[in-house]
Amino acid sequence: MSLTSRLPNVGTNIFTIMSQLALDHNAVNLGQGFPDFSPDPVLLELVNQAMHAGHNQYPAMAGVPALRQRIGEKIFSLYGHRYDESSEITVTSGATEALMSSLLALVHPGDEVIVIEPFYDLYIPGIQLAGGIPVVVSMNPPSASKPSYSVDWQRVEAAITKRTRMLVLNFPHNPTGIVLSEADLDALETLVEKHGILLLCDEVYEHITFDGRKHLSAASRPILAEKAVVISSFGKTYHITGWKVGYCTATAAIMAEIRKVHQFTVFTVSSPFQMALAQYVANPLPYTQLSAFYEKRRDYLSSNLEKTSFRPLPSEGTFFLLADYSAVSSLSELEFARWLTLEHGVTAIPVSAFYNAPKAQESNHGLIRLCFAKEDKTLDQAIERLARI
Ligand code: PMP
Ligand code: GLN
Repeated sequence: MSLTSRLPNVGTNIFTIMSQLALDHNAVNLGQGFPDFSPDPVLLELVNQAMHAGHNQYPAMAGVPALRQRIGEKIFSLYGHRYDESSEITVTSGATEALMSSLLALVHPGDEVIVIEPFYDLYIPGIQLAGGIPVVVSMNPPSASKPSYSVDWQRVEAAITKRTRMLVLNFPHNPTGIVLSEADLDALETLVEKHGILLLCDEVYEHITFDGRKHLSAASRPILAEKAVVISSFGKTYHITGWKVGYCTATAAIMAEIRKVHQFTVFTVSSPFQMALAQYVANPLPYTQLSAFYEKRRDYLSSNLEKTSFRPLPSEGTFFLLADYSAVSSLSELEFARWLTLEHGVTAIPVSAFYNAPKAQESNHGLIRLCFAKEDKTLDQAIERLARI
C-alpha cells in the first residue's frame, strides 16, 4: 500500500532550517525565537527540589492543581476573569500542544477556520489535521503612510460564512510585533456576538508589550472569554522554551472537549516542572518586569539598525522586530535570508515564511524578522555584521 501524506505540503519548519543554516555557517542566530540567556536560578532550584521531594510520577491529567490555581489567580489579577481551575484551566505541553489539542477538539471536518496572514506556522496544518478548511485573510502590509502591519476587521468579517467555526488570533503578534487595541477588542466583540464563532487566542507573548501598552487579553472581555480558548506558555515568560510547559483556558464545556484530546496526546505534562512553576508563578515580579527587560533590547537593536542600510519597523510587543532590507537587495525574502547567513553571518527569518504562498510576490515585502531575546554580545555581533553591508 502506498503511503499518502496527511500533510503533503508540510516540510521541515523554517525555524529549524534557519537554525541549522546558522550552525553550519557559524552565523549569529537572530532567527528562531528563543532566548540565549539563562532562566532564574531560583526556578532551576525549585525543579531540583521538586524532583528530590519525589514529584516524579504522573501528575493529574489536567495539570498539577496548585499550578492551575496559580494560573487562575494570575489571570484574575491581570485580566479580571475568574476561570475555575478544576474545569476551565489545563496545563499543556507548551502552547503548541494547547493549540493542536484545541483545533483537534473543536474543529469538525468541513468547518472553516479563519487565520490572519502572516501567521504562526502550526495553525494551518493543525486545522487541516482536524479536517477543517483554512480561510486566510491578509493583514495590510506596511506602507509609506503606515509603517506597521494592521488587521482589517471588515475583511475578517467578510470571510465569515455559515461554515465558519473559529477565528485564530495571535497577539502580541509573531512575526509582526503588533498588539491589539481596545478598538480591536470592540470589533472582535461585534464579530463574536453577530456570528457566534469560537476564538483561538494564542497569547504566548502576553507579558512582552512596549511603550506603556498593556496586553489586552480575550479573557479581559466577558463576551470574548465565553467563546475563546486563551493560550499561553511559560517558555516565553521565563526563558524556558525547552521545558515546553504552557496552558489553555476556556469555559468548562469547551475545556471538556479539549481535555479529551489532551489526555490521548500527552496525557499530562512533566511533574517537576509543574511543581516548580506552581511556586514560581506566585511571584508577579518576573512577568511584570519582562516588558521593560525586552523593551531595552528592542530599543538597542532598533536604534543600531537605524545606523545601517536596514530599516527597522516599529515593534509593539513580542521579542521580534521586522527590518526592511529593500535598500540592500531585491532578492526574495527567503533568498535574502539565506544570503545574509552565508555571506554575512547573520541569520533571520523571512517574513514570507509566515504566508500561505511564501514564494508569491504578494507575500514578499522585503522584510526579515529579527529576534532580540539575545545577550548584548550576541546583538552587538549581529549589529556589527549588518552595519558592514
Ligand atoms: N505560538 C506562537 C505565536 C509562538 O511564537 C510559539 C513559539 N515560539 C508558540 C505558539 C509555541 O509555544 P511553545 O514553545 O510553548 O509550544
Ligand atoms: N516560535 C518560535 C519562533 O517563532 C520557534 C518555535 C519553533 O521552532 N517551533 O521563532
